[in-house]
Amino acid sequence: RAEDTLALLGADATAFLARAGKLHINGAWVDATSGKTFAVTDPSTGEVFTHVAEGGSADIDLAVAAARAAFDHGPWSKLSPMERSKLVWRLGDLIEKHADEFAQLEALDNGKPVTDARMGDVTFSYELFRYMAGWSTKIHGETIPLTSGAPVHAYTLREPVGVCGQIVPWNFSFMMMCWKVAPALAAGCTIVLKPAEQTPLTALRLAELVVEAGFPPGVFNVVNGLGETAGAALAAHPRVDKIAFTGSTEVGKLILDAAKGNLKKVSLELGGKSPMIVYDDADIEAAIPALAYGCFYNMGQTCTAGTRLYVHEKVADRVLAGVAEFARGMKIGKGLDPATQIGPLVSEEQFARVTAYVEAGQREGAKLYSGGQRHGTSGYFLEPTILSETTADMSVVREEIFGPVLVARTFGDDEAESIVDEANASIYGLAASVFTRDVGRAHRVAKRLKAGTIGVNTHHVIDPALPFGGFRQSGWGREQGYEAILLYTEVKSIGATAGGGIC
Ligand code: NAD
Repeated sequence: RAEDTLALLGADATAFLARAGKLHINGAWVDATSGKTFAVTDPSTGEVFTHVAEGGSADIDLAVAAARAAFDHGPWSKLSPMERSKLVWRLGDLIEKHADEFAQLEALDNGKPVTDARMGDVTFSYELFRYMAGWSTKIHGETIPLTSGAPVHAYTLREPVGVCGQIVPWNFSFMMMCWKVAPALAAGCTIVLKPAEQTPLTALRLAELVVEAGFPPGVFNVVNGLGETAGAALAAHPRVDKIAFTGSTEVGKLILDAAKGNLKKVSLELGGKSPMIVYDDADIEAAIPALAYGCFYNMGQTCTAGTRLYVHEKVADRVLAGVAEFARGMKIGKGLDPATQIGPLVSEEQFARVTAYVEAGQREGAKLYSGGQRHGTSGYFLEPTILSETTADMSVVREEIFGPVLVARTFGDDEAESIVDEANASIYGLAASVFTRDVGRAHRVAKRLKAGTIGVNTHHVIDPALPFGGFRQSGWGREQGYEAILLYTEVKSIGATAGGGIC
């Protein structure tokens, strides 16, 4: 029952639930103008545990007006880089102070293991705020000598892009939000954020901490709502200067269309179907947990999930048996149980989608090697699943399933090079990995793999300092590192003369 889940929350998260349920605009809680609300469901039971305000285009208008005023006329744009840096750092400190609460809220509405949320999502996020706080004082232009040699003092300024719309998904709702919020604030932008309708809680809690940290009203606004209403209104809004989106490739294309009206800047972090290639000289014992986490971390609801396994035939039996055994040993349970390693999928819809793929894969000729069964009788739990003997034309190999499903195929010595081409033959290009003890091969294959992030003898590689993003239909632009600051700034060229003339 949902009450059993809620009983696992700490006092701070329980107190927050009692007061969270609105939109957060211009530094204050407000109801949706329509008065509408939507339900938030506990994925471990399928029961509704709270309702939050459902914002629509009128609320987006209000939030954009607040963000516009804060950017154009508020004290925010007059703060020194050092003052901005201190605020961003302070927000990181506040997130750390409330880290357990954030992890619990994330586990509650997403279902993810609370230990993963605390050690992964939340820790990464507060360290990211600190990393980005450092950039506030290091954003600068250049002096550039003109090619003509004209007596002109020419230089560039790097300025905040303005009001940013940010739309994020449910799978790493807190962390994906922080990936966008931290660099935007560090660069001096203002924000209207729309969280995913499945997971609105952590964004609302962050809004409170933004106020507590001392950011002026209007700098950070949260409008919960559905994608096709609130999200679409934000992406199309004529007074928004930039839209940053993380979500599916399908919706990413809708965002692009919507952004055309005022040609706002667009950055996109989209889907993936990432390959993991295991050669016969790999350290198999070390590879097995990396491959299992590569695919099954966060129940496979990870954009970078290593979901296509290409394994050399000489080690295939050991690798498949090892990954299956590792997966069977992962404890399935409620996200809020600290011992849980596999929580429920986020929703009934997602459960239906993933199980339909497992069936389709078998219909198309793949073998159900392990897992594939529903776990328990309530909630959306699915055993980690391996489909073997797959071929490149199967839907489970081509399409993003976004669940704990690893599709595997073996290759022989004659395919040791061409397997890289097959790994690259996807509309996506977010991540990829190669497992081998041969250093030369490791770097050769890493160079040939066409994806934004490559792991060598590991799969998930993320760090606040490391650019992250996709090739092909996995996205536009790079978050993290200085690249993220580039996404939130515009360059202006200035030429100054003593007066008169054309330079
Ligand atoms: P989604 O595309 O369905 O939704 C993402 C967000 O977009 C949600 O907030 C949703 O409300 C909003 N949205 C939906 N329709 C919209 C519209 N017409 N206009 C504006 N906004 C709209 O994705 P999801 O199911 O929440 O998340 C899963 C997807 O996200 C997967 O494809 C996954 O690979 C991708 N993802 C990518 C990254 C990355 O960094 N590349 C990270 C996490 C997730």
